[in-house]
Amino acid sequence: MSKKIILSGLIQQDFEKIAQDLKASKFRARQIHNWIYLKSVKSIDEMTDLSKDFREKLSEIAQVSDVTVKTKQVSEDGTIKYLIGYPDGNCVETVLMRFDNRTNLTACVSSQVGCAINCSFCATGKRGFVRNLTAAEIVEQVLTIQRDTGLKVTNVVFMGQGEPLLNLDNVLQSLTIFNEDFQIGARRITISTSGIIPGINKLAELEMQSTLALSLHAPVSEVRKQIIPVESKYPLAELKEALKNYTNKTGRRITIEYLLIKDLTDTIEMAESTAIFLKDIKCNVNLIPYNPIKDSKFKKPSTSSIMKFKYILEHSGKKVTIRLERGADIDAACGQLTGKVNS
Ligand code: SAH
Ligand code: SF4
Repeated sequence: MSKKIILSGLIQQDFEKIAQDLKASKFRARQIHNWIYLKSVKSIDEMTDLSKDFREKLSEIAQVSDVTVKTKQVSEDGTIKYLIGYPDGNCVETVLMRFDNRTNLTACVSSQVGCAINCSFCATGKRGFVRNLTAAEIVEQVLTIQRDTGLKVTNVVFMGQGEPLLNLDNVLQSLTIFNEDFQIGARRITISTSGIIPGINKLAELEMQSTLALSLHAPVSEVRKQIIPVESKYPLAELKEALKNYTNKTGRRITIEYLLIKDLTDTIEMAESTAIFLKDIKCNVNLIPYNPIKDSKFKKPSTSSIMKFKYILEHSGKKVTIRLERGADIDAACGQLTGKVNS
């Protein structure tokens, strides 16, 4: 038996081709499209406005998805972590976050299996790089959430496993699908990078309207190098120019993510240097208190150092938020994703 077409991850033209092959109209293509992306069905049988005869024909050549949910964990705070298995045996996490009093449902998706950057504070980095995910595999993560919960994801952040700008073509293709097929607005999507300059330049050229987030984590090259090895290749001075070019070209404010590690990056001197580094960059700052990972020497910052850091940056004129820790009890918080069961 030849391999069946996987409907999740296809675009309208692909659905039209399938409809044509089955001698059906373009309208059928649109119906299938909507069942996949807007109603998130699990099977072709659920596409009830298609005739039984057509559904049978479609089932002979296609199926909705080929991923499996290996595990699903629900945190005390409502965060859900899924471990998704692809047919080649690789797994990645995708996390659904809900925030109190908001109707937003945010999916945190992975862009690669593992990650080559090897940041010293991140469990994903410790695992090394395995492979890039295709656009369809990225999109499947959001569909898995929608199928399981029956809810519609409203926001997507590329903050799961992987460095999205090292898998840029597939990430951009998934972005188009999120925009056009899921109808998730560009501004409700955030791509977070460790600072891959060629990727940032490409996004500037494309005048991307989604939010770019940069993991700064230290304003001093010598310190940054110790925790984000890619600093040696793309140093802060050049990164700053790329960020300025990006905000000029896109007209968009970037988000600076700043990881607070006790006695290393959370000091008053670091806060002051960060304020100077960011002075002429159009940005908001998101402070991320370090989440402990296995076998790591780093420690969480104290509440008072977080507040001092925030105060200094605010005083320099920046809008500063503190990232709420989500799903730490199920290892779903930033940096805790490894793609393994019971890791
Ligand atoms: N690879 C991308 C996006 C994924 S990680 C990047 O590095 O930007 C999303 C955010 O979580 C990044 O800012 C990352 O530095 C941060 N992070 C990684 N490990 C963490 C940890 N143990 N505690 C808190 N944040 C962490
Ligand atoms: Fe990769 Fe981001 Fe983790 Fe660094 S923080 S190892 S870039 S996933």
